[in-house]
Amino acid sequence: MIDLRSDTVTQPTDAMRKAMAEAEVGDDVFGDDPTVNRLQDRVAQMLGTEAALFVPSGTQGNLVSLLTHCGRGDEYIVGQQAHTYRFEAGGAAVLGGIQPQPLEFEPDGSLDLDRVAAAIKPRDPHFARTRIVCLENTHHGRPLPMEYLGHYGALCRDHGLGRHLDGARVFNAAVACGVPVSAITRHFDTVSLCLSKGLGAPVGSVVCGPRGFVEEAVRWRKVTGGGMRQAGVIAAAGLVALDEHVERLADDHANAERLAEGLATIGEVELLDQQTNMVFVRLPKACGSALGRHLADRGIRILDSNPLRLVTHLDVSRDDVETTIEAFEAFFR
Ligand SMILES: *Cc1c(COP(=O)(O)O)cnc(C)c1O
Repeated sequence: MIDLRSDTVTQPTDAMRKAMAEAEVGDDVFGDDPTVNRLQDRVAQMLGTEAALFVPSGTQGNLVSLLTHCGRGDEYIVGQQAHTYRFEAGGAAVLGGIQPQPLEFEPDGSLDLDRVAAAIKPRDPHFARTRIVCLENTHHGRPLPMEYLGHYGALCRDHGLGRHLDGARVFNAAVACGVPVSAITRHFDTVSLCLSKGLGAPVGSVVCGPRGFVEEAVRWRKVTGGGMRQAGVIAAAGLVALDEHVERLADDHANAERLAEGLATIGEVELLDQQTNMVFVRLPKACGSALGRHLADRGIRILDSNPLRLVTHLDVSRDDVETTIEAFEAFFR
């Protein structure tokens, strides 16, 4: 099966399964799980933050971060198409009484800083209190421009606002920009990153930030469902992902580039964008779900959407990319 729906569909590697089987574990709610502790220390060190906290999902990572940054009646500024705002079931509003202030993203995935400044609420009882500005990197596979991050940081500092990064795929951004991940994350107070996307771990995200923030985030992790006890079993796979799957993200990016190049030669397929491990194409309306069926018959899975997003990952080889291009060509022939 060649599954191009998302980079979340990867199977744990043999090295991960071995590490999981052999993981030294303890009760993480007591802080006793050595493997979880190692993972948290490792991520904090890589990102250059004081501390880190293992959580089950990126959604919970962002939620716990927002609940820690903001209280009831506070506000966070966020992109209109940001995962945090659009795809996390409104959790911050539901559980925290936190008001989002969504703004349109610019084409490069940034938030226009003049618009951000204009959206910051005056200190007046009429308004929610603006607390943080949330960015996403990568956004739709697109890494934020490095020079933008400094301007964003300066604006937040000038207005006394916190800086949170939804860094579900921040390692893709770092590899694409050719920088250590800390060169990106140093522009933020807090970061939530996913081990279960391009890094290929089966489960897990990590919230990173100052020690006091992470201590408070532990409380909010409790509020939102609690700790995971012998979570070293899954943290072990995360450690393998960090050891073995960061640099190889470049292979996913090269494969996405080749996929885009191959599909672009098909007259009926309009290539909209290719960034890091994602390819976006528009298909003729007439092909409906017939393309999906044609590909499924050849062992290729795609989402049923138009524009169509195709994602490369650990379990998509260069040969798989060539097979996919040929299958698209055959369909349109
Ligand atoms: C996937 C994703 C998340 C949430 O991660 P889950 O582990 O699926 O909850 C958050 N932000 C972005 C940008 C994502 O792509």
